[in-house]
Amino acid sequence: MSFQSVPKIELHTHLEGCAPPSFIRGLSQEKKIDISGIFTADGGYAFRDFDHFLQVYEAACTVLQTPEDFRRLTLAVLEETARHGVVYMETFVSPDFCGGGDLAAWRDYVAAMQDAATEAEAKFGITLRGIVTGIRHFGPEACTPAAKCAIETFGDFITGYGMAGGEMVGRPADYTYSFDMAREAGMPLTCHAGEWGGPSMVAETLTHLKVARVGHGIGAIEDPALVSEIAEKEIVLEVCPGSNVVLNAVPGWAQHPIVKLRDAGVPVTVSTDDPPFFHTTMSDEYNMLARTFGWGEADFAAINQTALAAAFCDDATRARVAKRLETPA
Ligand SMILES: [Zn+2]
Repeated sequence: MSFQSVPKIELHTHLEGCAPPSFIRGLSQEKKIDISGIFTADGGYAFRDFDHFLQVYEAACTVLQTPEDFRRLTLAVLEETARHGVVYMETFVSPDFCGGGDLAAWRDYVAAMQDAATEAEAKFGITLRGIVTGIRHFGPEACTPAAKCAIETFGDFITGYGMAGGEMVGRPADYTYSFDMAREAGMPLTCHAGEWGGPSMVAETLTHLKVARVGHGIGAIEDPALVSEIAEKEIVLEVCPGSNVVLNAVPGWAQHPIVKLRDAGVPVTVSTDDPPFFHTTMSDEYNMLARTFGWGEADFAAINQTALAAAFCDDATRARVAKRLETPA
């Protein structure tokens, strides 16, 4: 069976990384910016490996220049995501790509994205919340303005703080300042770790950044004691299997540790990360989990409940989303 109509929650996406290539290409033509080199002959995104992926991603971002561009982007992404049964989505947004970390500019971008989210909720039945991210490979100092932007716009739409980007740049302890700022402001926290960095990166992220959720986290599987600790502390992993397979963070679907982590009691969730880059959708993720590991409706219902409980949203939103999970899309 296809799982397209099953209601879904995804907690780990990057807004620009969800941009349909046709949308980015269209915007590049409107603005007369030549980024034709980032596309394959059939119109997808072209990249060789993780570092090149980051370069192509940032090249795609160069055509997103105004709050209006982000309003259109948000609407296009939510229409596409809702087609796959997603009723609640969290997405990473970065002040570095929205006004270069300037707070006044950032407020305009947030207003535009929130506007689009409100329109999409009415039109497509999908709720969006934004998690502000510092970009790790821009360095610890660049994360301070990002955290300040996060704190100043923390509210109905911006509901969390985190960090994305090149995981192997620096150690988690280098980034405590921005995470401490966001935590003191009462913001829920997540951080990419253990996609490339292995168990030590996950362990240090928990110790120094004190996050409730970890983006990927799959590297933890190499350390049984750490897996037990994650399970005991109920740290939620935002697992993105299709992304891991395409970027070769794991050798293939059959070798993905999501089942081992779940069986060890780790709260796991499923997301697409950057779906058009990784040739995936939430329907594809569910179909591959079903095909590879025999997951069925009960398994998906369980991970959606885990995601619902871990969502960075208020209780009224959580209750509304809980109702939508009960109704086929
Ligand atoms: Zn990610």
